[in-house]
Amino acid sequence: MSDTPALPADSAPEKRDFIRQIVREDLAQGRHQGIRTRFPPEPNGYLHIGHAKAICLDFGVAAEFGGVCNLRLDDTNPAKEDPEFVAAIQDDVRWLGFDWANLRHASDYFDVLYLAAEKLVQQGDAFVCDLSAEEVREYRGTLTEPGRNSPYRDRSPEENLDLLRRMRAGEFPDGARTLRAKIDMASGNINLRDPALYRIKHVEHQNTGNAWPIYPMYDFAHSLSDAVEGITHSLCTLEFEDHRPLYDWCVDKVDLVGHPALLQPLLEKGLPREAAKPRQIEFSRLNINFTVMSKRKLTQLVMENLVEGWDDPRMYTLQGLRRRGYTPASLRLLVDRVGISKQNSVIDFSVLEGCLRDDLDATAPRRMAVVDPVKLVLTNLPEGHEETLSFSNHPKDETQGLREIPFSRELWIEREDFAEIPPKGWKRLVTGGEVRLRGAGIIRCDEVIKDADGTITELRGWLDPESRPGMEGANRKVKGTIHWVSATQGVSAEIRLFDRLFSVAKPDDESEGKTYRDYLNPDSKRVVTGYVEPAAALAAPEQSYQFERTGYFVADRRDHTQAKPVFNRSVTLRDTWAAQA
Ligand code: ATP
Ligand code: MG
Repeated sequence: MSDTPALPADSAPEKRDFIRQIVREDLAQGRHQGIRTRFPPEPNGYLHIGHAKAICLDFGVAAEFGGVCNLRLDDTNPAKEDPEFVAAIQDDVRWLGFDWANLRHASDYFDVLYLAAEKLVQQGDAFVCDLSAEEVREYRGTLTEPGRNSPYRDRSPEENLDLLRRMRAGEFPDGARTLRAKIDMASGNINLRDPALYRIKHVEHQNTGNAWPIYPMYDFAHSLSDAVEGITHSLCTLEFEDHRPLYDWCVDKVDLVGHPALLQPLLEKGLPREAAKPRQIEFSRLNINFTVMSKRKLTQLVMENLVEGWDDPRMYTLQGLRRRGYTPASLRLLVDRVGISKQNSVIDFSVLEGCLRDDLDATAPRRMAVVDPVKLVLTNLPEGHEETLSFSNHPKDETQGLREIPFSRELWIEREDFAEIPPKGWKRLVTGGEVRLRGAGIIRCDEVIKDADGTITELRGWLDPESRPGMEGANRKVKGTIHWVSATQGVSAEIRLFDRLFSVAKPDDESEGKTYRDYLNPDSKRVVTGYVEPAAALAAPEQSYQFERTGYFVADRRDHTQAKPVFNRSVTLRDTWAAQA
């Protein structure tokens, strides 16, 4: 026997990806008092499954190292932003199991950012440029050619300050001028070719109303918001790698740590002044085949009515996945399995589904439901025979206890569990054949009743009285076991059989003039009426079950009631797509 102490059951192995190693090292070297991260979504759409990776990383790292994580709404683009998204983002983060130390908005810092802009102007590090957007593009150069200096680049700090203040006062129309950083028009990194820091936009903002006719650009606002909040590790996806030199330039040139006076406006808002020099670290995005993940495309799916809203259970938004029956634990498991690195890769959809199956297999109570019912009458039971049988809720988890299932002379069974002409290897019901009814005994099918079209309307059979639960005959060998629901006490339910929204692995592939709209899976939603055992109908919305032999289902969070049950198929029991891949 080993005397190594066992890990507590709930302690996951320590994560050792490169970001956590950096944080570990920084703490070991005493570079920070504590760790601070942030999750900075732009409130211009619903979060998608890719965001789950960023959320788990940002909040996870903070929690693991005793630090804090802020939720910061990156609201610098007022035209596209909406309070509906803000509410959904908060809901999603909490649902995933995280909570923020502080809820902040980039707009909380507009005054600080503006003071920072004036500072850059006074230092000679920024200038007001009168070139139009098109001219700016022309002057910018290309990947292979250097750009040219703007003719306005050498304005004096005094003139720039005057123009910036007039921009701020709302004197100029949209697009007339920009404030630009003065860096290097010949830089190999195009982001450093005098990038815009502010643009004129006479648009009302959801938080600041009409206070500002100018709005900061992403790189300026993002880097300085991190610095204002004292973020130590600013984690973002790889496409920002080329922005890091500009990020560092903004942080260094403004130097909030060395110039606390710039933070004065925070005092008036009652916000803490705890600036630090943040470090940006990039990791690879989560990509999953068979999905689209950009907010733009997800928005189009909704706007073009290709799905039934943001939380359509086929959507790859967190709201959609939640309604489909994905659990927070399954998404956290996905992020753990995928890991954190700088390597771009595409994860197979089956990995996502596998995480849900693994979570629900361990946690979801079992129930019986018949999706495509045909009646089975057990003729040797007396008319009106009813009894209750006791079933365990979970075969591997005794703590889930027992439930009662009504059993009766008339039952619903799955139409596909009977075959008149059985294919080779058939283990289910045939005329004259026997099968085990899950937990109720062994039956034989004696008679098939059909309507005028030849559709089977009823099966008549015989229940072996020596095979009831607990009797010796119950252990008699028969080939198959099928599930059933009492026809007198089962509850009719709407069952929504969802499948993948796209039928190809790369719906983003736009070659041959196609778009993802051309790859929608026509069978992604099928609605049927089935029967569930009474204990399933009693589910609270969002309760997940394994419907035995059928799949994992969840009580729909919007439409399910005990009187009118509605279940969504979250995932099938086995991967039915593997053969096609
Ligand atoms: P999209 O481009 O998909 O519409 P976005 O990057 O514009 O999303 P933001 O609101 O700016 O969305 O993202 C907030 C944070 O989530 C950012 O730090 C971003 O890097 C991260 N993020 C977005 N998509 C993914 C993804 N697929 N995998 C990991 N992190 C992501
Ligand atoms: Mg973005």
